[in-house]
Amino acid sequence: MIAGTVVEEVVRRLSDMHADAERPVLLHAPSIPATGWDYLKDCLDTGWISSAGSYVTRIEEDLAELTGAARAIATVNGTAALQVALTLAGVQPGDEVLIPSLTFVATANAVSHCGAIPHLVDVDASRLGVDPSRLDDHLRSTLNQTAVGPVNTVTGRPIRVLCVMHCLGHPVDLDGVVDVCQRHNLILVEDAAESLGSWYRDRHTGNHGVISALSFNGNKIISTGGGGAILTSDESLADRAKHLTTTGKVAHPWEFIHDEVAWNYRMPNINAALGCAQLGSLPHLLKAKRGLAERYQQVFADCEGVTFLAEPGDARSNYWLNALVLDTDLADQRDTLLKTLNEGGIQTRALWRPMHQLPMYADCPRADLSVTDDVCRRVINIPSSAHLSPIWSNQAL
Ligand SMILES: *Cc1c(COP(=O)(O)O)cnc(C)c1O
Repeated sequence: MIAGTVVEEVVRRLSDMHADAERPVLLHAPSIPATGWDYLKDCLDTGWISSAGSYVTRIEEDLAELTGAARAIATVNGTAALQVALTLAGVQPGDEVLIPSLTFVATANAVSHCGAIPHLVDVDASRLGVDPSRLDDHLRSTLNQTAVGPVNTVTGRPIRVLCVMHCLGHPVDLDGVVDVCQRHNLILVEDAAESLGSWYRDRHTGNHGVISALSFNGNKIISTGGGGAILTSDESLADRAKHLTTTGKVAHPWEFIHDEVAWNYRMPNINAALGCAQLGSLPHLLKAKRGLAERYQQVFADCEGVTFLAEPGDARSNYWLNALVLDTDLADQRDTLLKTLNEGGIQTRALWRPMHQLPMYADCPRADLSVTDDVCRRVINIPSSAHLSPIWSNQAL
């Protein structure tokens, strides 16, 4: 099919599908249940609005139960959660940390905030997450196993940690990744910011390495306004995470004693209250988002030139952001398509500019990134709010 026709066809199908939705059709709007009002009012009535309070404890307990992690520690945002997770996984200033180049900039920034340097690796085209076999190939020629652990043969810097990211909610090949970590003596951290409600085989994402980070930013599946959380099943790391994110304060009924340099990365109670309200309706949100993804899959099944990005066969995705992948010969039509859709009130976005194409990370050590270079030109995100789903129900919230 000729390029212009594909653009028209995609625009037509998306416009028809969302014909009844209010314009603009947003990429991802939060769905906040009525209990949100009650919980917020409770915060205001009781004066518990800040960094301590029952909703902080409750969201931590709810998250642990939901994900199967032994412990969850609520934080002010996902970037802070990831910075602390990386620190507790053992990242030290001057290290290199393996991360996908295809990620939201927060992954690389969290590494930088540890005083470490991102070492960028490639993804696979079907999951958009770190590709274990390409990673293995790269590490075979890059890592030198020394008495102090793995070291980059070229730069001489230690590489202790691999941080994977579950892109758009689709879990990476975790069996493969865990295997590579064992083979090369690496510690696994998961940037699970986008994957609350996503499962790899029978385990929730964020439970496959030593520690992981979630985000509750405005556009995530659940939003506390701003917020995040650390997940771990290692009790001593969990205690350290709580201590490091709460100013290093030693428990005492009236004295202020702090025993190390730490951060104020706590999630305020009013933000936690919003999160608790939404976590209660997460099962319905996940069902609705799956229904929306299925609808997209049907609508684009026979659309020449584009493919709907479906979840991997070994995983259950939260379908945080739905995506269409343009055929290679249509990559140069992406911007025309995005312009037409956005001007027509259907909010759509390109994938992130990969890290190695950003000025501050352009000189980072890296593997071959040809898949990243290819897919980031061809993937677009399409409206993904749960309320757009054919099975959405306000009552079920
Ligand atoms: C959203 C996100 C984060 C964390 O973002 P915050 O805005 O700091 O909560 C980290 N990594 C990825 C991949 C994300 O999408």
